[in-house]
Amino acid sequence: MSKTKSAESVKVVVRCRPLNGKEIAANHERVVDMDIKSGQVLIRNPKASLEPPRNFTFDAVYNWDSKQIELFEETFRDLIDSVLNGFNGTIFAYGQTGTGKTFTMEGVRNNPDLKGVIPRSFEHVFTHIARTQDQQYLVRASYLEIYQEEIRDLLAKDQTKRLELKERPDTGVYVKDLLSFVTKSVKEIEHVMNVGNQNRSVGATDMNEHSSRSHAIFVITIECSETGLDGENHIRVGKLNLVDLAGSERQSKTGSSGERFKEATKINLSLSALGNVISALVDGRGHVPYRDSKLTRLLQDSLGGNAKTVMVANIGPASYNFDESVTTLRYANRAKNIKNKPRINEDPKDALLREFQEEIARLKSQLQSKGGGSRRKKTRRFNENGEEESGSEGTDEGSLSDDKQAKLEEEKLRIQQDENMAQEEKKKLLQEKERKIRLIKKQQQAKEQLAGKIKAMESKLLEGGRTIVDHTNEQERALEAKRREIVEQLKKEREMKQKLEEREGSALEAHETFTSLQQEVAIKTKKLKKLYAKVQTAKAELEDFINIADSERVELQDAQLELSREIRLKTLIIENFIPTAERKKIEERIYFDEDDEHYKLRPVHDEKQKVMTRPKSAAGGDKRPRSMFTKMASRIDIHNHRHLSDNILLVELDMPTRTTRDYQGPLVAPKVQAALDAALQEEGDLQLDASADIFSLKSKKKLKTRVKSAKVRSNRASKPTADSADYPTSRGLVPK
Ligand code: ADP
Ligand code: MG
Repeated sequence: MSKTKSAESVKVVVRCRPLNGKEIAANHERVVDMDIKSGQVLIRNPKASLEPPRNFTFDAVYNWDSKQIELFEETFRDLIDSVLNGFNGTIFAYGQTGTGKTFTMEGVRNNPDLKGVIPRSFEHVFTHIARTQDQQYLVRASYLEIYQEEIRDLLAKDQTKRLELKERPDTGVYVKDLLSFVTKSVKEIEHVMNVGNQNRSVGATDMNEHSSRSHAIFVITIECSETGLDGENHIRVGKLNLVDLAGSERQSKTGSSGERFKEATKINLSLSALGNVISALVDGRGHVPYRDSKLTRLLQDSLGGNAKTVMVANIGPASYNFDESVTTLRYANRAKNIKNKPRINEDPKDALLREFQEEIARLKSQLQSKGGGSRRKKTRRFNENGEEESGSEGTDEGSLSDDKQAKLEEEKLRIQQDENMAQEEKKKLLQEKERKIRLIKKQQQAKEQLAGKIKAMESKLLEGGRTIVDHTNEQERALEAKRREIVEQLKKEREMKQKLEEREGSALEAHETFTSLQQEVAIKTKKLKKLYAKVQTAKAELEDFINIADSERVELQDAQLELSREIRLKTLIIENFIPTAERKKIEERIYFDEDDEHYKLRPVHDEKQKVMTRPKSAAGGDKRPRSMFTKMASRIDIHNHRHLSDNILLVELDMPTRTTRDYQGPLVAPKVQAALDAALQEEGDLQLDASADIFSLKSKKKLKTRVKSAKVRSNRASKPTADSADYPTSRGLVPK
């Protein structure tokens, strides 16, 4: 089914942008040097001027003077050609924010010289198709973004929707419900890109900030069908992923603490997972943690899989970028060692082109069975202009049914004019004719619709020279060929040079015989110098790795601290506000679904947790017993829900908001309260002298009134316990 090629390394190139206006104005020093011929990058540590510069070798390096077209011709073109031949291909742009990732991928819009690899690949794809023969192509584009581990379809109408990753055993990981648009020209696919780019900035308060934290992936799927040597129709499908990664710099934390928490858990998870995947692949560890992030899952094929991959590592030239640039170079240096096994995707199950072809064939046979289209095939096949040739055959069809219709109309008229026929019969016949005319018209309409559908579907399939035409002239083509030649030459030279250097290094170990002591000393000194340099490089490398690991550790610790605090808060809330029984129930049923990356609840089925089902009433399978009257009523008046056996609505009782308050005794002024308290103090038993004259009528009365008023305030004072001394006699209203 598929042709396997031998392993192929991920191709890694480095690009350094020029010092920008600000940097020049601030007199920033450039610490990067590049040797294009040998593919080397040299970077000096501005803090240690005595150290020899760090030296890295890559498949190619591009300095501040490099042109977009150079990168395309030298580095990207082959990859895109492979995709046209049915390989999967991926281009990553990696690097610190502001070093030219987007410049490399997209470039500057409306400036032909500054166009990046994405728009250039559009042109390349459609020009290639235009130059082919006897092949049918279907080109589609999708555009998505990964931000805080959420996938957003940049071409969808609803930008709030988040998409899920799914996996199928035959076709691997894919994004569920991701839109893809069939495009027939450069213009169309550019439009798709522009729409996606507009959506990318929607909702982002600070686009720079947003793009530095999100990954954008533009996907072009190219399907090609061709009749093979076996006479069968074969389909190859190539997919090109164009990835503008998030900035690789350590993220400074911003936003409120809630946001920060989200960032601590999610930001750049994809990027660090990418690093882990690269490390695992390079170190030959058995387990490669692709599943750790959306990005690595989605691009699994591109890293150690069956795709061809190019990584562009972007760096800044200035001294203050040194740390980040070294980190990027180290990262890129590791990625060089990833081995892929590129494979052509032949006749995959999910080829859309096959579906199109089959659907077109089906519609055509349907059209034919309706009595048309028999001549259609011939006229279409040999049309020189590449235009839909439905005209001639269409008129044939049309005139045929037109004839029938005219005949029917004529007959209708004759019947109308016939004097001998009875009114009844006349009416019936006329109706019959009219019905037939309507039927013919309807059939005609259906056929036209079908033909239109076929035409629309066929227009999406591209064929070189027919539906898509190459507009480059001879001169331009010759120029292109020349450019390719030069590029090839350069590549060869660089490879030779790199091999030569490698050999020189290994020659050191070879045994040599010395003719004189002096010669031996000279040669050994040279050797020593070289080895010393090697030690220095190794030391520098070690130092870099320690630095990188250190800052990574600090970052992880920060994130961990943040997370454990958050967990503490959540645990507190759970422990204090959620009943233990409920929590236990949930804990027993919950599990983590690895595929959906969500917690889910297991259905309740075991005996212990069995939920009571509603007992079915014995009578006729009703959910609950019903009276005869209700049954009759429900049969007669079916629209009255009142008599239905099921509850059609489950309504929670809506309690009205309370309008009353709990009773509170009247407020008593403090002075009054104090007086009351004094009056109601417990007053032990009193000794009464019965002989005293307080029991005379007058004083008795006084006592009574006093007791009465005390009773009103408190029921403790039920006994008249008073002494004449306690109750001074009134002085009356008027003083004597
Ligand atoms: P990134 O996407 O990595 O954050 P950009 O692509 O947005 O960086 O680049 C930042 C700025 O630098 C932009 O204004 C871009 O035009 C400019 N730039 C980047 N690379 C180059 C280059 N090779 N030549 C000229 N300008 C560049
Ligand atoms: Mg960018």
